[in-house]
Parts: sequence; structure tokens; C-alpha cells
Amino acid sequence: MTAFISPCVAHELGLMPVGVKPIQTGEMKMHNLQKKRNSRRGGGHLTFSFGMVALVATAICVSTAPSPLFADGAKRPKALVVMLDGWRADTVSNGLTPNIKALADGKWQPGYKGAWSLSASTVRDGTTESAPNHVAIATGMTAGKTKIMWNPDLISRGTSANHLPTWLVRLTKARKDLKALHIFRWYADLRLSPDYGVQFIFDRDDANAKTLAKMLSFPDAPDAIMWYIDSPDHGGHNHGFYPYSAEYKEVVRESDGYVGEVLAAIAARPTFAEEDWLVVVTADHGGWERYHGQSSTQCYTIPLIVAGLHVAQGMIPGVPHNYDAAPTALAHFGIDVAKIDFDGKVRGGEVAQEPAPRPIEDGRAVYLPFTDGSTANRGSADVVAEIRGAATPVADGAIGGGLRVSASTNSAGSVFLKGTERLKFERGAEFGFAVWVRTSSPQVGDPVVFGNKDWNAGSNPGIALIAWRSVPVKYDFLRIRGDKPGVMFNCGRAGRKREDLGQYNPEYGKWTFYAMTRGADGVVRFYQGRQDGHLHCVADDLSDIALNTGLPFFLGQDGTGKYRHPFVGDIDEFSLWTRALTHEEVRRIFESGR
Ligand SMILES: [Zn+2]
Repeated sequence: MTAFISPCVAHELGLMPVGVKPIQTGEMKMHNLQKKRNSRRGGGHLTFSFGMVALVATAICVSTAPSPLFADGAKRPKALVVMLDGWRADTVSNGLTPNIKALADGKWQPGYKGAWSLSASTVRDGTTESAPNHVAIATGMTAGKTKIMWNPDLISRGTSANHLPTWLVRLTKARKDLKALHIFRWYADLRLSPDYGVQFIFDRDDANAKTLAKMLSFPDAPDAIMWYIDSPDHGGHNHGFYPYSAEYKEVVRESDGYVGEVLAAIAARPTFAEEDWLVVVTADHGGWERYHGQSSTQCYTIPLIVAGLHVAQGMIPGVPHNYDAAPTALAHFGIDVAKIDFDGKVRGGEVAQEPAPRPIEDGRAVYLPFTDGSTANRGSADVVAEIRGAATPVADGAIGGGLRVSASTNSAGSVFLKGTERLKFERGAEFGFAVWVRTSSPQVGDPVVFGNKDWNAGSNPGIALIAWRSVPVKYDFLRIRGDKPGVMFNCGRAGRKREDLGQYNPEYGKWTFYAMTRGADGVVRFYQGRQDGHLHCVADDLSDIALNTGLPFFLGQDGTGKYRHPFVGDIDEFSLWTRALTHEEVRRIFESGR
């Protein structure tokens, strides 16, 4: 059934493009697909009929004008694009992927730099399932063009029928002297792989890593490689993507180890010094609990790392996409990607300017540590914190004392932050906040922990951290629906549109950290720091945020101070900045409360 080519055979074949044999029609076990279906049901493998793979090589016009960004011509270009299935971006910042982190930090090999984003995104016009994104990464085009909206589209139709060449096919069409390889684990990717001049290998992840490392030890190794690693997705579906299960962390570490093994093999090539490697690492989607597929920043947010000799070192601003991989890799070979109708962009040339380190007090309009029962604002003198209703000090805060906001009397508690209605934010709408929250049970009616908007409509201008919202969770594939309490960040956008980030799962009875920041690149990053020490982050492009409302900020209430469902819980170490926070600052604030 498998089309696996052993390392020995691959070598004996001299890595010549393998004449791809049509896969025979027949019943194939769908264990891998079933895993993608976010199934809550045990057992019972699904089967389906796998049609003949179309092998018609499509006519593709590719210009080979040199790209000014990546091709200096002095060394031989080579490219490795790696996709880790179900790999959450925050695993990088939580230290689970040291090899990939080194690549991003420009510490892989002398001269190599890394342009990176932990706020990259999947396709948005298809589901956050694997297939629309596997195809997008390979073709540089999103579901609007590929028509691969979910997994069955790839399995039933493949991409050849749509005349959608992968970047490997485009490359081997344009440059017949180059060898290309697609190596993967998920059988549905066979639908992408067998095409003009591209060799493919279909095997387990660990075997693929060994095969690749072995192949790369030979001088005539493939020039262009696309490697899809499946393991993180299994760990997520079986045990949980978020909050991280021990198993998920293990498979992410393992997968990073595979990448390390192959990167070491590249660096050990006798001809490495004469070669110009571009390494792109990304994911097809994130995940939440044991699922993905739904429209949520928990699934959209993914990493993108572009490493090479000619890329810039630092963070890629804004929200890049996993489908940037194809044009970026092709540009590295001097292909004029502007002539191709890509949705993706060439990445790696532009990075954000790193902000100069600032004292944490800088731009801090509000700081309420609630130490010794005090509710005084230790931030800007322009803002006065006024307790309203049933809000009383508690001794066991996250750090020192905290504040209990209660609804047990007729007068629901809140903190009115008088003066915040006049705050001026840097460059119009850069800001950050951090807060520790503790609740004991799910709440009623989407109460506001912190915000400045009229929460009667999510599309109203302003922002709100929403507690324990019960969100209908919909999975496109199996039509599973359910309600799950969570913590969301909502904000209004231009044109009375809304944005909701999250959801994060509460930890009842425990102090949990939340932070939010919007930077100069228009990206909002919404954090949750959990008891296990992991700092999670989801992100989205909010360049059109509608931040100012004319209303003040409140803790435990919306900007009107009169939202009908009061927040019930404990709050501590609240800060509001009129500037953006860096990831390091958010991490430091979180660590200081642990
Ligand atoms: Zn996937």
C-alpha cells in the first residue's frame, strides 16, 4: 500500500526522479484521516475508495529571472521546507523546540540568520484542517484557488486535477538540473506528491528523518526538499494540544529532534561551505484541547521560520502565512515569483526593528498590586482607581494581597479607573495589559474582567477580556458541536466588525495570568500563563482595531460600568500600559507572579 522508498533504494536510484506509479484503487485504512477528524469516538476505522492518482504533468510557465532577495549566485542554492503538523507557535517560546529555536535565532551555523514569526497564520478561506494547509504550503495558494477546503477534498480530488503544481514541481520544470523530494507521513499527501519530476517518500516520521539525513550525506542529495512531519498532530489529538499534554510536549520535542538530526546532516555535508541553504519551518495549524479545524486563533496561530544566509535576523512583522513557504523557497532559486499567481509572499527580507528595552514603569498608566489591602493606583497620577460596590481585599493574592470582586450583595463589585477615558496610546492604538485572575466556577452571561467597551455588542468599539464565556465549539469535519467555558479577548474593529481571540481554558480555584498587547505591526498577542508554567499565546492582525470609546476602563465591568452580568472572582497585579509590551516583558511579568 505504501509508496515507501528505502534509503538504500533511494541511493541506488541515484535520487533520479522516481517514475511514480499510480496508486491502486482499493480500500485504504483511514487511521490517519480519522485522527484528523477530531473524533471523540474510539475504535472503528473508516475506509474509503482511493481513486487513481492523476499523473498528468501540467504545463507550467515559470520565469527564471533572478530574485534580488535570495540569489547571490556565489553558492549553490538548496532549500528545505519543513511542516510540523499541529505544531503550536507557543511551543517555540516555551522551549520545546531548541533546534528550531536556534535556527530562528540565527544560531544554526555561522553566517545563517533567522527571520521568524510566532504570530503567523494558516489559510483563512479554508478550515484549519490539515489538507487545505498542506496544499497551501506546497502550492503557495490558499483554499480560494486550490478549492481544497477540508480533508476530503484532497483525498477525493487531489491537486493535480486542479492543475496546481507544488513549488517542487515548478522548480523541476524550470530547472531540469535540480532534484526535488517530498517526504511525508500522512498518506493523503500522496495526492500532492506524485507529479512531474518530484521524488516522494512516504514513511514514519522517525524513518523519514533517518532517510533524509542519510540522503543528505551524499553529494547528489536533493536540491529542494519538502518534509511533512506528522507526529505533533497525533499527540494533540490523542492527549491534547492545549493545555499541553505531556504526550504533546513529548512529540513536539521528538519532532524538533528529527529536524535537528536533518539540520546536522546538512551542516555535515562536505560541500556545505559551497552551498546556500534556505530552511523554512512552519505548521499546518495549531490546536485546542484535542481538536483543530474550528475557526479560532488557537488553531490559526502558527510559527513561520525562514533561515538562510541572505535573510534578515529578527521578527517578521505583521501576520505572515504558512503558504509563504512556496514563493520564499522558489525565490531562493532565482525564480521570478512575481509572475506566479501566489497568495503567499517571499519572507525573510523584512524584519521588525527591535524596540529598545524600557523600564516596566514606562507608559504604565495603571498599576494595582493590591498590596496590604490598598487599592491605590501606583501607575500614572492621571488615573484614580475607585472601588465600586462589593469589592474587598483578600490576603492570598497572586503576589501579596488581591481584590475579591463579588456579586453577593445588591451592589456588584468593580474598579472604576477614572481618567482612563482620556488616555493617549502610543501611535494611536499600541497598548498592553496584564492581570492575574482567579475564579471558582463557570460564570453567567459573559462578564467582563477588564474593558472599556459597551459590551452589549461585541462589534462596539473598545476592548474586553471576557471571563468564562461558554463558546459553541464547532468542528467542520464531523459536525461536532459543544459548549465550553473559556476566556476570550474581544475588540471592535473599523466598520463595526469584531474580533475574538482565544479561547483559553480557566483553571478554577487557581491564579491564572492573562496579558494582551498590540504592537507597532498591528498584531495583537493574547497570552495565558498557566499554573504549569507555560505561557500560551495566540495572535491576529488587528491593524484596524477600534480602541478608543470615550468610556473609561473598568475591572469587573464593561466601559459603561453597568453591564448586567457581573464578574465574580479575584483579581491581582493589574497593569495597563499605553505602549506595546515585548514578549520578554510579558514573560517577566508572568514569572514574577509565580
Ligand atoms: Zn494537520
